[in-house]
Amino acid sequence: MHETGTRVDVAIVGSGFAGLGAAVRLGEEGRDYLVLEKGHTLGGTWRDNTYPGCACDVQSHLYSFSFAPNPEWTRTFARQPEIRAYLEHVADRFGLRDRIRFGAEVTAAHWAGRHWDLRLADGSRVHARAVVWGTGALHEPSVPDIPGLDEFAGTAFHSAQWRADHDLTGRRVAVIGTGASAIQFVPAIQPQVASLTLFQRTAPWVLPKPDRPVSAVARRLYRAVPAVQRLQRALIYARNELLVSGFLKPRRMALIERFARAYLHRTFAGRPDLEAKVTPDFTIGCKRILMSNDYYPALKRPNVDVVTEKIVRVTPNAVVTADGAEHEVDTIIFGTGFRVGAGLGKSVPITGRDGVRLADQGAVEGFLGTTIAGFPNLFVLTGPNTGLGHSSMIFMIESQLDYVTAALRLLDEHGAVALDTRQDRQDAYNAALQRRFEGSVWTAGGCASWYLDDDGRNRTLWPGYTFDFRRRTRKVRPADHELLA
Ligand code: NAP
Repeated sequence: MHETGTRVDVAIVGSGFAGLGAAVRLGEEGRDYLVLEKGHTLGGTWRDNTYPGCACDVQSHLYSFSFAPNPEWTRTFARQPEIRAYLEHVADRFGLRDRIRFGAEVTAAHWAGRHWDLRLADGSRVHARAVVWGTGALHEPSVPDIPGLDEFAGTAFHSAQWRADHDLTGRRVAVIGTGASAIQFVPAIQPQVASLTLFQRTAPWVLPKPDRPVSAVARRLYRAVPAVQRLQRALIYARNELLVSGFLKPRRMALIERFARAYLHRTFAGRPDLEAKVTPDFTIGCKRILMSNDYYPALKRPNVDVVTEKIVRVTPNAVVTADGAEHEVDTIIFGTGFRVGAGLGKSVPITGRDGVRLADQGAVEGFLGTTIAGFPNLFVLTGPNTGLGHSSMIFMIESQLDYVTAALRLLDEHGAVALDTRQDRQDAYNAALQRRFEGSVWTAGGCASWYLDDDGRNRTLWPGYTFDFRRRTRKVRPADHELLA
């Protein structure tokens, strides 16, 4: 390390799907880039989430880079080890490893007039003209502040920090949360544990998952005729987009809700008590629609108890609910989700023009989910309002990378140093976006979800068709930005 630090044209923070995708695209453009990865291996969310049963609920053919189709997927919905291996493969195939600095944790980012000054945990610095922020929106585990948790004498951990060293065999386990992660690990651990007490605050909608092995014949076909896999991908993409119409006009969700209700009723035949507990009380789609074939069956097992009473405290050996019941356990697993958007200026301070701190902005708004007024040459992947409940985030990331590469080309053409989004354009963009949420299932569906922030605005999801996002990110309109010389 020396005083001035490393100089690079573009610094990419994170080596998950976003960071690696950025590396490939910037490499293709012949740009000088460096990936900064705080861990010692790559893979982002698919490296961190190793809980039993971890898998993707977006179809494998679509949940992969368009420029790196994988004919070898062994299931229609890939599981975590296979997705992680895919990312390792992408790094090798595109020769990215030499340009990833591992153990490089960015602790602060500051716009220094003509470049970004990144500070790393080891005291070193990186100066970059542009920064691509690829740390993901669901990155920091959220553990509720339950009174007494500190005094719990057993083992407690979050699903994204799974304790593989803690053998669950014969344990009395509490699981808190019934979201996308919990519904995957609950059926995976249920056969192993002595008892599983599942604390459900809100019953989610769960649909059957059309997950099945991909035959060796199909894999051979994809290898020999890549167009077949591309066609599959296009069909899956188109089918998923059909849901958007229902998200925007919730009464159109009636059919799918009827289907989900019938599935639930069939599965819990003879167990009306349990059926009542797990029947959601909001319009399907208001929260992420979950998919599983083994979650509901697991809840019916004799060693599982679904508790809907509010948790009030934890004692050294129990979780206590509002009805006074003490549920004795020796392990607590939190499937309680993530601190949404925590990566954006909160845990890592980001300071833009005129010393403005992103954290001081309250809820962060962006422009096309990628740029933020006042923060020149900062490109956030999976930024504000890019989230999806129905399709692949990889599609959104690739759209954003179109925008990033177009922006950098625009700077070259104009001999400019940086691009800063105009505040008025950003405000108009967000006002229009918020109008689209009015009457949508996320706003009018009768649920409280992490999609909405403290002021009730949805700054998480893209409120429309993803092809519209792709169209809008294809080009950079110079009028939307100020070019800094
Ligand atoms: P989540 O969907 O946010 O679910 C968190 C769960 O914990 C909810 O059931 C929530 O209840 C409950 N909870 C939170 N705080 C609580 C508290 N204080 N007391 C009791 N219950 C509490 O989190 P996640 O399951 O980790 O999933 C997060 C996101 O990651 C997903 O929405 C999805 O985008 C992504 N994910 C994707 C996949 C995939 O297959 N692609 C898999 C896993 C995760 P409420 O509903 O009442 O808030």
